[in-house]
Formats: sequence, C-alpha cells, structure tokens
Amino acid sequence: MLVLGIESSCDETGVALVQGEGPGVPRLLAHALHSQVEMHQAYGGVVPELASRDHIRRVLPLAEAVLAEARRSLREVDVVAYTRGPGLAGALLVGAGVACALGAALRKPVLGVHHLEGHLLSPFLSQDPPEFPFIALLVSGGHTQLMQVDGVGRYALLGETIDDAAGEAFDKSAKLLGLGYPGGPALSRLAQQGDARAFKLPRPLLHSGDLDFSFAGLKTAVLTQVHKLGDALDARKADLAASTEAAIVEVLVRKSLMALDRNALGRIVVAGGVGANRRLREQLDAACAQRGVRVHYPELALCTDNGAMIALAATMRLQAGVQQPTTSYAFDVKPRWPLQALASA
Ligand code: ATP
Ligand code: MG
Ligand code: FE
Repeated sequence: MLVLGIESSCDETGVALVQGEGPGVPRLLAHALHSQVEMHQAYGGVVPELASRDHIRRVLPLAEAVLAEARRSLREVDVVAYTRGPGLAGALLVGAGVACALGAALRKPVLGVHHLEGHLLSPFLSQDPPEFPFIALLVSGGHTQLMQVDGVGRYALLGETIDDAAGEAFDKSAKLLGLGYPGGPALSRLAQQGDARAFKLPRPLLHSGDLDFSFAGLKTAVLTQVHKLGDALDARKADLAASTEAAIVEVLVRKSLMALDRNALGRIVVAGGVGANRRLREQLDAACAQRGVRVHYPELALCTDNGAMIALAATMRLQAGVQQPTTSYAFDVKPRWPLQALASA
C-alpha cells in the first residue's frame, strides 16, 4: 500500500510517500517540505491568508519532487491522505482540496488525518520505533499534552496546558529577548552559552498534583526580568534564555515522570517541535535512564510539521483498521478538533 500524505495545517507545506506492507512499521520512501517561516517573519507571526496562498504554490511541485525521488508515479498511489485539522481553516482547505482533487482524478480514495496523531506517531519512523503502550508527551507550537497511548486511535488525555503551549512559551519568551519569530530554536541555541541558574523563574503547576501545565505566567516573569535589566539585557541575554529554557524543561520532565509512575508504564514518546530541544532530550534521557524507562523521539527533521507524519498516521490507521478511506470527495476540514474526539469516534 502506497500512501501519499499532504500536510498544510499552518506554515509548512509537507508532502511524503509512505509504503505500508505486512505487520512491520511503514517505511518512508521520500518526503519534501517547504517552510514559510521567512515569509511570515516580517509580521512576527503567521499571516493566515499568506499561508494559504503559499500552500497553493508549493504543494504540487513538492508532490512531484517526492514522487521523482521515490521513483514512483502518481498512478501507483493507493490512498491520498491529508491533514483534516486542527489548524488554520484556509491552509487546511488547500491540502484537503488538492488531496481530494488528486483522489478524484486518479479514482483513488482519500483519508483525512488528525495533525496531532501525526506528531504522536512520528517516532515510528525513527531508527528506534516504540511499541504500544506508552506515555506521549506532545509538545508543539499549539499544544502541550500528556497522553496514554494504547494503540492506533486509542489515546487517553492525562493532562494538558491550561494556557500557553510549551512551544508558545519558547516563542513568546524569545520575542521578549529580541530573538525574532519563531524564536524557540534561537532561544535554545543562545541558552547553551548561558547559566540556567542565573535567574529564578517560576515552575508553574510543578506541585499541582495533576498533569496539567501552565506557561503564561513564565512569559510575564521573563518580561519582568527584561524590564529590570534594561540596558543590561544584552550582557545577560544568554543567562535569561538558559533560565527560561530550564524552567520550561523542568516542568515538562517532572510531569512526564509523574505520568509514567501513575500509569506504571516504562516507555515514553516525545513528539512535536519542542521535542527537538536539546536540554529537554538530555534531561528526560537522564531521568528515564535512571528509572529504566525507554524514551523515543522522532528524527530531528520530523519533530516539526511535515508530510511524512501525515502519510504515516494514515497508513497506520488503515493497517489497524480504525478508519476506512473514502471516495466521497466532499471534503471538510476541522480547524478545531481535539484529539480525544478522534479517539472516541
Ligand atoms: P501544533 O502541532 O500544536 O498545531 P505547530 O505545528 O505550530 O503546532 P510544531 O511544528 O510541532 O508546532 O512545533 C513548532 C514549535 O516548536 C515552535 O513553537 C518552535 O519554537 C518550537 N521548537 C522547535 N525547535 C525547538 C527547539 N530546539 N527548542 C525549543 N522549541 C523548539
Ligand atoms: Mg510551523
Ligand atoms: Fe504541528
């Protein structure tokens, strides 16, 4: 089974070809990505209308590049998968529209995928794929969730952020430090030259006793420090970046360990853009090694949005028999779509 996957939920156009055969983990044949980050940078954030228009320009050339790299023709594709939600409505409509047009033209079925399920399953494409069941720490630009994952489509939410997502906390703090947009990776790079203990920043909800997160207060604490420092900010920027990163990472690690303990699981999967963060990986690896817990990450290139995770999630859903592809090309998109709604459907 050959699945073409299209991701267009936000500011990355991704296309990929995944082969699923037999009981093994599906294989990624090729993927291609175009990031719109530069285009949106001037505005300090994603401009939805520009995002949609750029997806239109990129998606077919990316599909052609992927097919060429995999040496396959469009006719060999069995199912066309696309991100159905959550995300920007206009951006999602481009991927859905193109997928359904391709499906209709090729007389092949289509399948709409949940973007977060893509993130969640992306470590299955790594050198060291996980096995079910596991705890999942999903840390992206829009979400911060702990889940128990028992199988494809079997996701129980254990806790989530009550305000900002972890990626948002990185990006907003980075903006306050003048590191541009999206500043998460830049803040993380600068943090490597700083002292993580230099500033005392809050660890929100660390002792709340539940598995929820809150990062909005941290951003305020960073802003307070920026104001206090005034002209001295430049000299202390790396220290403040390191302290901010340490605060976010400590909460993520501690709550992940709590989730593992409470659910008596020995395996955790980290997914989403913040999963690329070096400090998070180091601290989680160290804490889990001590407890004999296995940690799985997506390949670095597949932490942020990509088409591979969409083609993979579609293939795994088809293989598990939890969803049938459809030849009704009357597509719709779901800009707001909690993952639990998918799991209970
Ligand atoms: P969602 O998947 O929730 O809809 P999204 O697709 O925008 O959100 P991703 O693409 O998974 O999110 O991740 C992007 C986020 O990851 C951004 O907030 C970015 O700053 C953050 N990020 C990426 N790399 C790093 C890093 N090395 N350290 C910290 N944050 C990072
Ligand atoms: Mg993005
Ligand atoms: Fe994402």
